[in-house]
Amino acid sequence: MSAAIIDGKRIAAGIKEELKALISAVPQEERPGLAVVLAGDDPASAVYVGQKEKSCNEIGIHSFMHRLPGTAAQGDIIELVEKLNGDPKVHGILVQLPLPNGLDSDQVIATIRPDKDVDGFHAVNAGKLWTGGDAIVPCTPMGIMALLDSTGVDLKGMDAVVIGRSNIVGKPISALLLSRHCTVTICHSRTRNLPSVVRRADVVVAAIGKPNFVTGDMIKPGAIVIDVGINRVGGKLAGDVEFASASEKASWITPVPGGVGPMTIVMLMKNTLQLAGVLK
Ligand code: NDP
Repeated sequence: MSAAIIDGKRIAAGIKEELKALISAVPQEERPGLAVVLAGDDPASAVYVGQKEKSCNEIGIHSFMHRLPGTAAQGDIIELVEKLNGDPKVHGILVQLPLPNGLDSDQVIATIRPDKDVDGFHAVNAGKLWTGGDAIVPCTPMGIMALLDSTGVDLKGMDAVVIGRSNIVGKPISALLLSRHCTVTICHSRTRNLPSVVRRADVVVAAIGKPNFVTGDMIKPGAIVIDVGINRVGGKLAGDVEFASASEKASWITPVPGGVGPMTIVMLMKNTLQLAGVLK
C-alpha cells in the first residue's frame, strides 16, 4: 500500500482564502487585531513570528508586533500583556514561546485575558476544552483535526495513539480526538513498549520532536498518520515519522514540510477572527 498524502499546504491555502473573504467585508477600522510578543533573539522564534506577521498582512488582520530584548524582565512582559489586555484594537494576544531562560511562561500565559488567548493555552481555555465548553482551541491540534476531516474518514470508535503529552500539542489533540469518540492512548517518554502501543492505532499523531522516530514497522496497515514534528537534520526539515517506510503501510499520511505546519498558522488566523467576532 502507498498512502495518500494529506496536503496541508493546499488545505491551509483554501481556508486562508475563506478567511480573507470574510475579513474583506469588515470595515478597515473594525478589522481583527493580533498582538504578538517576541522576547529575545531565538532564530526559530523569529522565523515563526515573521510567518505569522506575513499571514496577518495577507488576509487583512492588523498585526501589532512587540519585540523585547532577551534581557527583558518578567515584570516588563507582564506589564505589556496587561496593556494589551486593555487595548480594544487587540482581539488576540500571542506570546511566542519559549521565553528566554529565567522567565516564567506559565505566569505570562495566566496573565493573558482568556477571551484574548488566541493560542488557547490559558488554563481557562484548556479546562473548557476538556470539559466540553466553548474553548479557544490551540492552533496545531485544531489544524490536525481539519486535516483528519479532509480525509472524509469517520473517526468514531477508532483507536487513536498520540505520542507526546505537551500542553501545546499532545494533550489538546487527545481531548479533541476523545470528543470525536476515538479511544485515545497518550504515549510519552516513560511509555513501556511504545511500538506495540502504536501498532494498535487506526490514527497515529506523532508530536515528539525526534526525527524519524516512528517507523513503518510501528504502523498498522491502513492507519492514518499525522506527523507534527519539525526537526532540522543537516539543514533540511524532517518530521517525527520516517515518511518512506510509514507511507508504505498507512492509508493517509502528512508530509513534512507541507502537512501540519501550514495549518497551524491558518488556525491562528481563524482563532483571531473568532475572538474578534468576525467568525462565530
Ligand atoms: P515537547 O518537547 O513539549 O514534548 C515532546 C513530547 O514527546 C513529550 O511529552 C515527551 O515525553 C515525548 N517524548 C520525548 N521523547 C520520547 C520518547 N523517546 N518516547 C516517547 N515519547 C517521547 O514538544 P511539542 O509538543 O511542543 O512539539 C513536538 C514536536 O512538534 C516538535 O518537533 C515541535 O517542533 C513540533 N511542533 C510542530 C508544530 C507545527 O506547527 N507543525 C507546532 C508545535 C510543535 P515526556 O513528557 O515524558 O517528556
